[in-house]
Amino acid sequence: MMKAYCATLIHETSRWSPIPTSLEDYRRNFLYAPVAGEGLHLRDETFVGVNWNDIFVRRGHDAAIGLIAGAEPGRPTSAADYAFLKDELLAGLRAAMPVDMVALFLHGAQVAEGVDDCNGDIAAAVREIVGPRVPVGVVFDLHGNISDRLIESVDVLVSCLEYPHTDFGDRAEQMVSLLEDICSGHPAPFIIRRRVPMLGTYFTTRSPMRELVDWARALEQQPDIKAVSITHGFAWSDVKDCGANVIVCATGDRHAAEQLADTVAERYFRARDLIRTPRISAHEAVAEALAHKDGLVVIADTADNPGGGAPGDSTHLLRELLASGADRLAIGMIWDPIAVEFACKAGVGAELDLRIGGKTGATSGAPVDLKVRVLSYRDDAQQMAQGAFSAIGPAALVEAGGVRIVLCARRQQVFDKACFEEFGVDVTACRVIVVKSHQHFMESFAPVASKVIYATPPGAVNMNYREVAFSRIPRPIYPVDDAPIEIAGRRWS
Ligand SMILES: [Zn+2]
Repeated sequence: MMKAYCATLIHETSRWSPIPTSLEDYRRNFLYAPVAGEGLHLRDETFVGVNWNDIFVRRGHDAAIGLIAGAEPGRPTSAADYAFLKDELLAGLRAAMPVDMVALFLHGAQVAEGVDDCNGDIAAAVREIVGPRVPVGVVFDLHGNISDRLIESVDVLVSCLEYPHTDFGDRAEQMVSLLEDICSGHPAPFIIRRRVPMLGTYFTTRSPMRELVDWARALEQQPDIKAVSITHGFAWSDVKDCGANVIVCATGDRHAAEQLADTVAERYFRARDLIRTPRISAHEAVAEALAHKDGLVVIADTADNPGGGAPGDSTHLLRELLASGADRLAIGMIWDPIAVEFACKAGVGAELDLRIGGKTGATSGAPVDLKVRVLSYRDDAQQMAQGAFSAIGPAALVEAGGVRIVLCARRQQVFDKACFEEFGVDVTACRVIVVKSHQHFMESFAPVASKVIYATPPGAVNMNYREVAFSRIPRPIYPVDDAPIEIAGRRWS
């Protein structure tokens, strides 16, 4: 029986998001701040893939749960609110001392006003409190940007490997088992990190990224290789640590572990053109989808993914669906609280003129004015998001021509078919469904989609990296810079 302090702080930060981030956004998503006496009851639903209490109780330990907080991706957290979150996390740790280990779930791509590296900032402060001998482990999102300060402050560093992130729970458990090993006298692993000079989002549901991840898991079967993490990073945080990494936690022969990290990093970089998201405009995506005659086609609006800090109210794909004149089409969820309110007031069955989307910024496109019929309104619907139920909040389904449109009042990405089915849309009877999501929809939609198209229309998550006015990312970096790339005498080709 050991005593662990556990905490979670999740925010993926985009400097190109039009959405400011304050404590209110954490309260809306999930916030448990026991020292400040604030927040939700500690429900399983609030853990977003990592349930510390469940993991530690099952393994026979005592868990002191501190801050559990996460907000929908957006702009950097305000300085005062980040200070509150950090103070709460550290106050919980001080109150729990003495502890045998510390387990943290951090996103990795969190930026606050005035703090580019929130994760390193927190890990260093935790280390200062517990001293050098208490093992500290971090499990993080593969979209994390990893700093030297974070690596130097912790004993174990493990990312999820899957995108969609279906393995947070397993990876957290693997991280905790390594902390247990250290507590019971095994040597602490060393952490080898290889920066891979590229920006991108890579789908592990597709070859050859799938094979790369399977290979990483196979490498972990070697006795001294404790964890292999292949991270993608998150470009739109625009910090000096942006980019992909290979991170190996190992014991034993350091040179062998370094060679292994080099081999994985080189194979990862060589695959860059095969694993990157192709560029497909809204018009091309809808034309390609309608040309496909056999079963449901899902189009991902990768550029307007609320999970990457986008508003979810862009109209580029909606406009193309309407212009096609086809039927059995659906799109969701478009974030438009005013349209949801009007649909609710008009009532199910009503017809009304409704202005939809295009409100939060230039990349959202112009709003679309439609005569719609209200088919459904609910405020109690839920979707499964990374293993936990998440409230959809007030939302309505409206219809215009052959297009059914799900409108939501709480900004969120589509993880689950429930975003349509809860409002009466028969997903499998649709010809084309557009989802405001980059890749997390795949866990639910893959079994029913006969084809998936990743569209890259204009949006807050601009997938054309050369168009984004980055100022802090490390250079050279692919695809902003052409390969081969030379860094510190090392040639990446
Ligand atoms: Zn992620």
